[in-house]
Amino acid sequence: MKKAIPFLALALLVVACNNSKEKSNQSKEQMSDTENLLFSESTLAYGAPDFSKIKDEDFKPAMLEGIEQQKKAVEAIANSEEEPTFDNTVLALEKSGELLKRSSQIFYALAASNTNETLQAVEEEMAPKLAAQNDMIYLNENLFKRFKTLYDKNESLSLDAESLKLLENYYEDFEIAGANLSSEDKEKLKEYNEKIATLTTKFGKTLLDANNAGAVTFTNKEDLIGVDEDFLKSKESKDGKGWTIPLQNTTQQPLLQSMENRASREKLYMAAWNRADQGANDTREIIKELVEVRAQKAKLLGFKNYAEWSLQKTMAKTPENVNKFFSGLIPTATAKAQAESDEIQKMIKSKGQDFTLEPWDWNYYAEMVRKEKYDLDENQIKPYFELNNVLEKGVFYAANKLYGITYKERKDIPTYQEDVKVYELFEENGDQLGLFYTDYFARPSKSGGAWMDNFVTQSKLYNKKPVIYNVLNIPKPVGNEPALLTYDEVSTMFHEFGHALHGFFANQQYPSLSGTAVARDFVEFPSQFNENWALYPDVLKNYAIHYKTGEQIPQELIDKIKNSSTFNQGYSLTENLAGSNLDMQWHTISADKKIEDVNAFEKEALNRTKLDVLHAVPPRYRSTYFSHIFAGGYAAGYYSYSWTEMLHHDAYNWFETHGGLTRENGQRFRDMVLSRGNTLNLEKMYKDWRGSDPKIEPMLKARGLK
Ligand SMILES: [Zn+2]
Repeated sequence: MKKAIPFLALALLVVACNNSKEKSNQSKEQMSDTENLLFSESTLAYGAPDFSKIKDEDFKPAMLEGIEQQKKAVEAIANSEEEPTFDNTVLALEKSGELLKRSSQIFYALAASNTNETLQAVEEEMAPKLAAQNDMIYLNENLFKRFKTLYDKNESLSLDAESLKLLENYYEDFEIAGANLSSEDKEKLKEYNEKIATLTTKFGKTLLDANNAGAVTFTNKEDLIGVDEDFLKSKESKDGKGWTIPLQNTTQQPLLQSMENRASREKLYMAAWNRADQGANDTREIIKELVEVRAQKAKLLGFKNYAEWSLQKTMAKTPENVNKFFSGLIPTATAKAQAESDEIQKMIKSKGQDFTLEPWDWNYYAEMVRKEKYDLDENQIKPYFELNNVLEKGVFYAANKLYGITYKERKDIPTYQEDVKVYELFEENGDQLGLFYTDYFARPSKSGGAWMDNFVTQSKLYNKKPVIYNVLNIPKPVGNEPALLTYDEVSTMFHEFGHALHGFFANQQYPSLSGTAVARDFVEFPSQFNENWALYPDVLKNYAIHYKTGEQIPQELIDKIKNSSTFNQGYSLTENLAGSNLDMQWHTISADKKIEDVNAFEKEALNRTKLDVLHAVPPRYRSTYFSHIFAGGYAAGYYSYSWTEMLHHDAYNWFETHGGLTRENGQRFRDMVLSRGNTLNLEKMYKDWRGSDPKIEPMLKARGLK
């Protein structure tokens, strides 16, 4: 994924850069007082953060001062006596908040990948302050008046295309944020925003407690037959009297694949299912309040519902389009899931059992079906996926073939943790492209999952080249053992580098339009697209080399990996659609609707969209633990993952029919898509490159649904 922005996206767009005199004077003062390196630009190559000198205590004062500096800059623009011009208004806002942007980019990188108590406390303290900063800008009446004056006569300003887009982009953000409301309604809106911020934080905290409290302890080893011994060892209770299995955020739990004891499976599954609808960690009241305030906010802003308001700047644009997209997928997905369910039921029977398949049985028996059908064992392929080979001979190799880029490791750039590596990337002609940090190994101070973001954003305005990092959670090998990856981890590495390429090829004047600053339902497209090269024959043969023998991966194994890629896809798409649908339905309720019962609403919502026809295929997240939409930034946006999946398969289909992995194809994709940031209408950009609108068929084919 692209790292979730910890405060409103709108705020990030404007916490850009500031070079006012006021700022440079202050920063010098601060520097001599405290030697806080965040107050000045880094002198390292590419402006890379100097982690050998930045201290945890530096962030709070830098961010607080950054907030003050931006406030002053915004007030100066808003209250200026001069006639509004592009330079004194749009550009001035774009340049405001340099210190805040620089320090928060570094701060949130560490808060996610290498946190500690100091950073956690700062994070908690800053969240509401950054949300208020957003309102400070977008609900400022004088500031909006100046943007409106310019926007209304934009054609007479003779701006270049990107500057015009910058003006339009800000203007739309003002409108979406509520700048057209009366002063009275703006006050109401600020209250709603504050309430939403408080409720989402509360949901996140309650869910964290619910997840921890939901961990299941088994005291009898027999109940855990089938579970990996090393794993069990790491889960031994402190008193030595049992094993405590923590809950993952999804409905299905990884252990359900290997647990032989059916009663244990049911116990673990039910603990996950009911984690947050009882006792002290019940999230249902929070959900009720939250969807209600969101609906009221949308109404105040003149929309039928929250989704309609929130989808304005996306590719999908309206809830109707999202629902139309779903309705094309639901029958196909559930039909495939039904066929998979039949196969599993047969497998259950063949093992001498006569029970009906339940959700907690699915993964255990599906794994048997997979082994029987495809004869694929993860342990057979891992020796061919050694981490450095995958990165340098796979990920970098594919990028070289497509875009001509090359790499060199830089050992002179300080990192924030010893496992982090830094590469310098170059264009085909040897020109510098940017710095790339890899932080691949799991550790307790790192959040789960994988993500990409920038330490430094590309912009011609500041003559900046990108500094980008990828974070994964691969288990760190012991001692000098090599890190051998699962195919999933290989795929994730390609995925995150796809985001990185989107950032590296950015070629924008303005940082707020640069690279990955695009709509939520587009940003996962370049990354998912890049996953395709992992299995591309020329690439695979180059990196999949046995770490001991140096032997290339045998064709037989490649075939097995490919054949099994459509396995269980009916289940996987159905559980995703169920989650996406719940999200959409929670966010299309109108402001006058009262929700009485969260679980009843959920049941009805799944029934209405025929996503409940398979009892054994539950939603990927139930409402009560759906943190993407109630704590994270994906409210009315969870559909994005399936949407970009459609785009990436359709795009790869173009490559397949135009000669595949070639320099020419790569260059064309870079020129027309990857380098364009947020400067074009995304639908039109895609269509211009592809020659037609995206079609769903390649995605269905890739998932084995057609
Ligand atoms: Zn991603």
